[in-house]
Amino acid sequence: MNRKLAFLALIIFIWTTQSCVSQQIITNSAYSTINSGVNINDNLSEEAASAEESAAAEESTADTYTADPVIIQPGRAELVMRALHEAFPDRIRSVEFRNDDWAVLLRISAAQEVWYYYAQSRMLTEEQLPDIANFRAHQFYNYPDELPVWVARTPEESERIRQNRANDRVADQLSRSNFMNDLWGTTTRRETEDKLVNITFFGRQGRVHREIAENLRRVDQQVRALGRTDRQVQAFIDSIHTMETYNWRVIAQTMSRSFHSLGLAVDILPRTLGGLQVYWLWTADRREDWWNVPYSQRWHPPPSVIRIFEANGFVWGGKWFLFDTMHFEYRPEVMILNRNSHFLNARQQN
Ligand SMILES: [Zn+2]
Repeated sequence: MNRKLAFLALIIFIWTTQSCVSQQIITNSAYSTINSGVNINDNLSEEAASAEESAAAEESTADTYTADPVIIQPGRAELVMRALHEAFPDRIRSVEFRNDDWAVLLRISAAQEVWYYYAQSRMLTEEQLPDIANFRAHQFYNYPDELPVWVARTPEESERIRQNRANDRVADQLSRSNFMNDLWGTTTRRETEDKLVNITFFGRQGRVHREIAENLRRVDQQVRALGRTDRQVQAFIDSIHTMETYNWRVIAQTMSRSFHSLGLAVDILPRTLGGLQVYWLWTADRREDWWNVPYSQRWHPPPSVIRIFEANGFVWGGKWFLFDTMHFEYRPEVMILNRNSHFLNARQQN
């Protein structure tokens, strides 16, 4: 009798796993069709990555799914949700494939937990799912390990960028779901400011979300330690003039809140820029094709400083297509997503 039950359980298990996997294939191919171009649409937001790279990554994911039906690799939705779980184990309680999509159970308070569905990167609650067209995607992008090689855009490519920027202005009128605020407890100004702590960072005062104060203390300590043997790093430390941290505001020209308004970002500006460019939007005032400003004309912190920030969970805005070279923001899930995507790619090639 027990054997029969065990056998029945095994059959049910195989059946549910397989139907889950096939749904996932459909979900993911639908996702890559819907989303080709979505990444570049979203580029106006401060936290956007290189659009072409993201689009290429989506295509390669689609190939993986259609080329080999035997080796099933996790799709983008599963990778993102598992990265969130790994990055925030105390707040993301579990990851599940439920109601035909990947979802995370987010602990908002001791009394409240909410399922957030991937929903093509929109991160929606069950009640919001029918309303998906009114939300814009959260940014879970592919963050490059190295600064991508800079290439001047051809006139045709520049024209395509201009057209995509026009589409962005439509997308910018949409809001993001409250997922990030529920994750960080930053829905209202009052709630956010209750979570801020004072920090001293490279000798400057600032206020940040209490969850990242320790990470910034480590960055400060590690960069200073490196400065004792590395003259370029010491010169960078000595050049620091301004540090911007918490700031209750929305991102210029969009409906989105900046990571500064969550207390999760820092800007570091030197005493003098020596004519170099730091932020695409400031450059756009003087130069319409701001994307064609080569790295040699942009202000960059030393690569070793950037690596220390990254090792402590921060992405650097200088790697974004919409460059913001003074900006670092805390995105451990993006770092984990990157590492896990690499791992899968390496496994596929073997
Ligand atoms: Zn910033």
